Amino acid sequence: MSGPRPVRAPRGIEPSALGWQQEAALRMLQNNLDPEVAEHPDKLVVYGGTGKAARDWRSFDAMVRTLRTLKQDETMLVQSGRPVGVMQTHEWAPRVLIANSNLVGDWANWEEFRRLEALGLTMYGQMTAGSWIYIGTQGILQGTYETFAAVAAKKFGGTLAGTITLTAGLGGMGGAQPLAVTMNDGVVICVDCDPRAIDRRIEHRYLDVKADSLDHALQLATEARDRRKPLSIGVLGNAAELVPQLLAMGAPIDIVTDQTSAHDPLAYLPTGIAFEDMADAAAKDPAGFTTRARESMARHVEAMVGFQDAGAEVFDYGNSIRGEAQLAGYDRAFAFPGFVPAYIRPLFCEGKGPFRWAALSGDPADIAKTDKAILDLFPENESLARWIKMAGERVHFQGLPARICWLGYGERDKAGERFNDMVASGELAAPIVIGRDHLDCGSVASPYRETEAMLDGSDAIADWPLLNAMVNVASGASWVSLHHGGGVGMGRSIHAGQVTVADGTPLAGEKIRRVLTNDPGMGVIRHVDAGYDIAESVAAERDVRVPMREG
Ligand code: NAD
Repeated sequence: MSGPRPVRAPRGIEPSALGWQQEAALRMLQNNLDPEVAEHPDKLVVYGGTGKAARDWRSFDAMVRTLRTLKQDETMLVQSGRPVGVMQTHEWAPRVLIANSNLVGDWANWEEFRRLEALGLTMYGQMTAGSWIYIGTQGILQGTYETFAAVAAKKFGGTLAGTITLTAGLGGMGGAQPLAVTMNDGVVICVDCDPRAIDRRIEHRYLDVKADSLDHALQLATEARDRRKPLSIGVLGNAAELVPQLLAMGAPIDIVTDQTSAHDPLAYLPTGIAFEDMADAAAKDPAGFTTRARESMARHVEAMVGFQDAGAEVFDYGNSIRGEAQLAGYDRAFAFPGFVPAYIRPLFCEGKGPFRWAALSGDPADIAKTDKAILDLFPENESLARWIKMAGERVHFQGLPARICWLGYGERDKAGERFNDMVASGELAAPIVIGRDHLDCGSVASPYRETEAMLDGSDAIADWPLLNAMVNVASGASWVSLHHGGGVGMGRSIHAGQVTVADGTPLAGEKIRRVLTNDPGMGVIRHVDAGYDIAESVAAERDVRVPMREG
């Protein structure tokens, strides 16, 4: 009988699979479930509410077994966390093809998904959980750092010093918020209803202190703000209660956002239910729990809008809380914007997005060497240099050592080829896995997040992520995934991912050059098509071919 047990990816230079492409998939699947990395490894849950790496333990064992014997011209097919076939392909083909949580349009809702999940027919893949390229909270840290830097630039003269941010959710992704704010020199109050989430972020040095009460949190925050000293403060409680309370107290909050697991109403704690009873209550009466969670979210969002009315900078951080509050009947839910149209879209137009890599050797020295390579490759990029330096000093690795930074079209391929050369020369101890979040410039259709308020109104057009997955397969990625739901929930997004392995061979170099050019190229063409000027100039300057602009 296979069941929960501690999982840890093997380290070192000896693959147990027949090649490094397969070994990389094997190690990254296991790494996603490493207790240092995953939020609830016993349940195979990596992050984001119920985002899983495998459907069940039997499927996990079957994938591990299959990856160990998979040949260089074979491809394993994964249907929502379960291996369903091995097919003969060819060496340029991905070793693994993954489809997670996809349902036909009219059926794509939580109710139907849960019914199928209960029958053991599907699982929730989130973005990088079911596609095996989650690297712990660091993965989101850099994007969150960039977002708060953009908030600082837009509203506070380029720094968050002297400001107080209020947010909630210190889980796998949300746990990056306190460090991202303090890296921008600000003060932040973070509410979470799970004491373990607060303790864990303190242990990992993402969060500085825990307050005893809301009053205490506010006192610590205002003192630090007055001294323009960065400080992150965790406070235990339900955001649907504490955020309205802070508004009623007239708390001097400058920025408000939220990263509770609002995309999944069964993962958001309604008021009136104790945290300890949450799992039972959700299991016993999912429909009743959903209604209560949505009502609480409506109160939470109403208070966020109240802060906006009082002059604060307020944004939705990609968890669909506005959509859920609207479902509960709150009609001003969309009074504040999502973070992508507010801060990130100009970066997407340049093909920029969350480029990440992990050292399969397990040796942190390999990441230090790749950090240096990034600094050498892009000496003119000051914010990148600042990030890489701070990350080197402050980021605690979870699982296999890894790094993330945002790179654009014409940059990712250079970095990837350099890493491959470093593996080939022996400078790095073992191959490097290069992937990204599905939250990227040309890989997602998500009208409440990445494609909210597109210039041409094309928010819900989902041909782009499908093309993205296909182009990555055609370009030689090591594994490619196509998911539904992700960070915003069932019925609200379709997105694709790719991971490509730099194993030091010339073949890997060829694949990397194509994949890491074409994948961000999708971001450029998607935004050219939607009419963004920045994307038009990037395409013109960097020779991205767009047939409708030719002739
Ligand atoms: P998670 O499930 O690991 O953590 C969620 C946290 O919220 C938990 O610690 C939980 O205790 C807390 N929580 C739930 N209800 C609460 C309430 N009422 N009051 C206070 N705390 C409450 O999830 P995660 O991986 O951190 O992701 C958080 C959300 O952000 C998800 O909806 C995810 O889809 C979304 N997300 C956004 C981005 C982005 O780029 N902005 C990226 C990934 C995920």
